[in-house]
This record gives sequence, C-alpha cells and structure tokens, in this order.
Amino acid sequence: MGNNCIFCQIVAGEIPSKKVLEDDNFLAFHDINPVAPVHILIIPKTHYPNFAQTPPEVFTPMAEFIKKVAEKVGVTDYRLITNNGKGGGQEVFHLHIHFIANPGGTLKWGKLV
Ligand code: 5GP
Ligand code: ZN
Repeated sequence: MGNNCIFCQIVAGEIPSKKVLEDDNFLAFHDINPVAPVHILIIPKTHYPNFAQTPPEVFTPMAEFIKKVAEKVGVTDYRLITNNGKGGGQEVFHLHIHFIANPGGTLKWGKLV
C-alpha cells in the first residue's frame, strides 16, 4: 500500500502515467510494456492486492468503467485479463485488469506454458 506500491504512486501522481480515463474510484492508463497495439491497465484507486483479495462489490462499477474505457478508445473487440498471484503471472500486487486489443485485427490465443 501507499509508498511501496507502484500503482498507488501512479494514482497519487508521484509516478507519471499516460492516462486514458479516470473517475473518483478508477483509473485507466497505458501499460508501459504493451503486448498488443492497445494495452491499458485498469485499476481501482483503492489498494487491493489482487482479484482474490478484492471485495466483490468493487467489480460492478469497475465493469461499467471498463466499458467506458472501450468507448473512449473506440474498440468493441478486446480481451480482459487479471493475473492473480505469482503463479498466475502477477508482478504488481495492486489489482489491475489488462485491457488488450488489436483494432482492425484479431488477438491470438494459445498455450501459455
Ligand atoms: P502483472 O504481471 O502484475 O499482471 O502486470 C503488471 C503490468 O504492469 C505489466 O504489464 C507491466 O508492463 C506494467 N507496469 C509495471 N510497471 C509499470 C509502470 O510504472 N507504469 C506502467 N504504465 N505500467 C507498468
Ligand atoms: Zn497500491
């Protein structure tokens, strides 16, 4: 939380980010290391370590916010991913949903191990 969480520092404006959309409770910004032409991270401004440790009621407004992000960037086709825990590939322990898209194309899918 707070000082040692990189995404809390982004929320606080202590680390710069390329913001896409923001409201009182959520922030969307471009991933620093994109895996596709559109790679946005969507986070609650409140610190929760990951999906498993987030109260379920957070996800209803978060889903609405994600749809607004899609509208803002003008894509209808996209993939949402959240890595939960080290074994799930999580590196930053502040809940985030990866919003990934390839406008005008198709995202690949395949074996990850
Ligand atoms: P995870 O592996 O935890 O699901 O994803 C963490 C994501 O955060 C990675 O895709 C990584 O590129 C991104 N990331 C890490 N540090 C920063 C940063 O300082 N700024 C931005 N915009 N993205 C970051
Ligand atoms: Zn945090």
